[in-house]
Amino acid sequence: MAWFRREQKPLKKSERPGVPSDVFDKCAGCSEILYRERLHQNLGVCPNCGRHMRIQAGRYVEILLDEGSFRERDAHLSSGDPLGFVDLKPYPERLKEAEAKSGRRNAVISGAGEIERRPIHIAIMDFRFVGGSMGSVVGEKIARAARRALSEGTPLIVVSASGGARMQEGIFSLMQMAKTSAVLGRLHEAGLPYVSVLTDPTTGGVTASFAMLGDLNIAEPGALIGFAGPRVIEETIKQELPDGFQRAEFLLEHGMVDRVVDRRSLKKEIAQVLDHMLGPVADRDAQRDAERTVERTAERTAERTAEPGTAQAGAAVAGPARKHAPVQPPSQPEGGPARGAPGAGATGPPVEGRPIPPLGQESPRG
Ligand SMILES: [Zn+2]
Repeated sequence: MAWFRREQKPLKKSERPGVPSDVFDKCAGCSEILYRERLHQNLGVCPNCGRHMRIQAGRYVEILLDEGSFRERDAHLSSGDPLGFVDLKPYPERLKEAEAKSGRRNAVISGAGEIERRPIHIAIMDFRFVGGSMGSVVGEKIARAARRALSEGTPLIVVSASGGARMQEGIFSLMQMAKTSAVLGRLHEAGLPYVSVLTDPTTGGVTASFAMLGDLNIAEPGALIGFAGPRVIEETIKQELPDGFQRAEFLLEHGMVDRVVDRRSLKKEIAQVLDHMLGPVADRDAQRDAERTVERTAERTAERTAEPGTAQAGAAVAGPARKHAPVQPPSQPEGGPARGAPGAGATGPPVEGRPIPPLGQESPRG
């Protein structure tokens, strides 16, 4: 019965008709098959069960900031190999692979942008880059973003996604916790808001430092947030952990985070919080106009009274004070820094004539 035998060879895997692998995704929450484009439009949130998938760091720029407002800073920074660290492979090799995989030179995107017309500084961690681990570059970029926010008088937003400290950099990695915490302390003293957004997962040294230091700590639904992993804790305390332990909702119930916010309303929520802390943007514009008028009036008065005697007297008074005065924060070329905190309880960001003294240095007496 030769006709019964299969004469054609079975199709190879590559020849089988089917859908390309990059068209659909399966939701890990409800097992629904989702059209990837639709999932992308829904900001990586399952339309069926609301599960928040991990998304790329660059996507948060699109989600949180006004279109076209983002200016990236420090993209060129990359890690050294201070310890000559080798585990399964040498650390520099691991970094090269991470660069190829993520298309970035480090695990953070940082820069300036606007949220509903309010200038801010932002840093977003990229989990694809060595598990978003915090090495010296991550710490440095977040500290720089905070310092820029400080000098320009803007709020700071940090979106965290991290497996913790980067062990390949040893103590250089751990000291980033202190460094970032110190500069956030200065931001707090200056009365500038810092909003921390915790995404899935935020663990280890990142949780133990800047991720939990926000004036407001916002978590995405279902995000894993913790210091040590659940297995380590169970082994240590010899107890079974409750359901949902270390998830955003559990932490909200126990007072570890302030809000759990759907990614689709994250931008609106942050804008509202900043309005609440600093006053609405419209007020800020009005205040800036008022400041400009005052400056112009002062300039005109100075021009009118610019006689040799008066100028010298002024210089003599200002002289000794200026000699030791800390460097004035550079003013923004256009738009001007966000100033003024009409909201009750706010200390108010730095204004002219009230420069921020460097750490541990008292303001000099005039
Ligand atoms: Zn789902």
